[in-house]
Amino acid sequence: MIPLTKVAPGREFAPLKIARGEKIFVLTGAGISAESGVKTFRDANGLWEEHRVEDVATPEAFERDPRLVWRFYSERRKRLASVLPNPAHFALASLPEVFLCTQNVDPLHERAGSTQVLHMHGEISKTRCSSCDREPFEDAAGLYFDALPRCHCGGLLRPHVVWFGEIPLGMREIGEALDDCDLFLTVGSSGAVHPAAGFVSHLRNVKNRHGRFARCIYVGLERPDNAHSFDECRLGKAGDLLPSLFDVPSFVGAEGSD
Ligand code: NAD
Repeated sequence: MIPLTKVAPGREFAPLKIARGEKIFVLTGAGISAESGVKTFRDANGLWEEHRVEDVATPEAFERDPRLVWRFYSERRKRLASVLPNPAHFALASLPEVFLCTQNVDPLHERAGSTQVLHMHGEISKTRCSSCDREPFEDAAGLYFDALPRCHCGGLLRPHVVWFGEIPLGMREIGEALDDCDLFLTVGSSGAVHPAAGFVSHLRNVKNRHGRFARCIYVGLERPDNAHSFDECRLGKAGDLLPSLFDVPSFVGAEGSD
């Protein structure tokens, strides 16, 4: 039987004990970057930076008006150039081992020191070709407010982000890590954007290699839409709660390290 979700201010919960060898899957959403000054998706009236999502973040929008789409992403690139990570990003970067999967296209996990980050919705600092299979490339300084950028193949270049209606990146790797995890933590995600919003309900049906269900914990400002699938929803700001969220055993000096 699935236990009832416990929902309360984060400070009322004890730190999460992590046993040696436990596998942690962390999914982050726009909320983790909010305290760094990056607007979340649901900031104002369903508008994203004053634009309707359909006008700037769908393949149809790019086909209809690539200049508007590039202006939107160039503006976001410009702003993200000077944004700093906050204590929540640093807390995750200090964990010894974690599968870190983000829906965010910003580079704040990397700026905090995380080295292995799966950006399932792409990375805003990268550009790729909409026609050929050229690898996505770092293009943080590429601001396209007027002329449209072209690939050497002649195709139109596009931001390396996953738009609504497109398939997220790394789904096979994500599926494997989910099925194997002992602890699933989501930080700052409304639980409204799929497939990420469905990861937690998937874990309600899949036992890990130990034959157990993963513990599922949510940390964020308010109850997410998928709150019922979590064991606990710890409410509060990610930057306040994450630095003291984990009780991780010290590995230093254990097992006669040299
Ligand atoms: P969302 O905007 O739908 O939800 C954000 C969630 O974060 C909300 O539930 C909100 O209560 C919570 N939140 C706000 N401030 C918080 C804080 N300080 N601490 C903890 N939680 C806080 O975001 P989503 O679920 O990630 O989905 C939106 C989509 O928009 C994603 O696909 C994402 O790629 C994209 N997006 C990305 C960025 C970014 O890269 N930083 C920013 C906006 C949107």
